[in-house]
Amino acid sequence: MENIRRRKLIKTLLWGAPLIALSPISAFASQSRVSVRIDLPPFPLEDTYLKGEKKGGRILVVGGIHGNEPGAYKAADILRHVKVKRGELFIAPRMNFVSILADRRGYNGDMNRKFASISPRDPDYPRVKWLKNYVKEVKPELLLTLHDGFGFHSVNPKAWGQCIVIDAERYKNFHLGKEARTVSERVNRFFTKREWKVPVYNTNTFSPNTKHPEQRKSLTYFCLKEANVPAICLETSKQMPDLEMKVKTHLLLMKEFFKLHNVEIEPDFDYIISHLDQFLKPKVHYLANLNINGRQVLVSSNKTFKLPKGSRVEFTGFHGTAGTNAVSPDVNMNLRKIGIKRRIAVDVKDDFRKIFTVRFVVV
Ligand SMILES: [Zn+2]
Repeated sequence: MENIRRRKLIKTLLWGAPLIALSPISAFASQSRVSVRIDLPPFPLEDTYLKGEKKGGRILVVGGIHGNEPGAYKAADILRHVKVKRGELFIAPRMNFVSILADRRGYNGDMNRKFASISPRDPDYPRVKWLKNYVKEVKPELLLTLHDGFGFHSVNPKAWGQCIVIDAERYKNFHLGKEARTVSERVNRFFTKREWKVPVYNTNTFSPNTKHPEQRKSLTYFCLKEANVPAICLETSKQMPDLEMKVKTHLLLMKEFFKLHNVEIEPDFDYIISHLDQFLKPKVHYLANLNINGRQVLVSSNKTFKLPKGSRVEFTGFHGTAGTNAVSPDVNMNLRKIGIKRRIAVDVKDDFRKIFTVRFVVV
């Protein structure tokens, strides 16, 4: 992707998971002395802002509210690598990063049920609060939130996969139904299989008779009701044959919404779709930077360190992609400061994919 001109402003806000009373450090301290302390970096909360030279619309793309939906967050992430020629583009690709690394829908429960209210003690609180403020601050003319749902809506109306979800046919002066149907008709020319077609699914969330009152806790409902921002949910299916087809579905849908809102990107969606491998499988060398008892160590493959009691280990950074980070399957993944007594494994991952494991054994 070296030949692609990039212009981006990435503001990285660092949000550590709140260290609550359940911290292994305090937990261990109350039981017995911690032998070795491992510090992992806070999960970055990335947002990208791209502005074109020509005036156009303003779109905010949100990915990764659910962590086991790679078609959604990979498609959002790809947009971070384009140039915007016309309009403005805001991207928050990995809203639920801990769930992405855990490859779970919601490591701390369903994030898309936390936009009406959320406890400050909830580990997702900083990110949900940040996104709500961001939506109000950016005030896009359209917010698209990307998901990989189950099944195929065109053959099973109860399934959430392969559809465009709207909360209402019309809300105030936002003609959500009309816009979604226009996109649906255009995109469905590309899908010959009946189950792959992408119809419009209206959950009628505002109606007292809605079959989906739970959607009143979702991001799109918050956008409409509390932020006066039109929001639409794009769903590919978890059952599409591979990651490429999931990402392609999202790109085809976004292409049409971008057209309707006068936002142009370079390279354009057709180029990205026909060179998807370049974007989905960038050639990167993964590295973890560690500080072990004051010594800098680079790790690029599976490795075990034997450490004396009282050692201090810090993961100071990573080389890889924006999805590269570390979590330990041995402890609560929200915690970034970990006290261990005997041993721990730390997985360095690129989103859902494990790259290598660093093990620490206390001797
Ligand atoms: Zn989802």
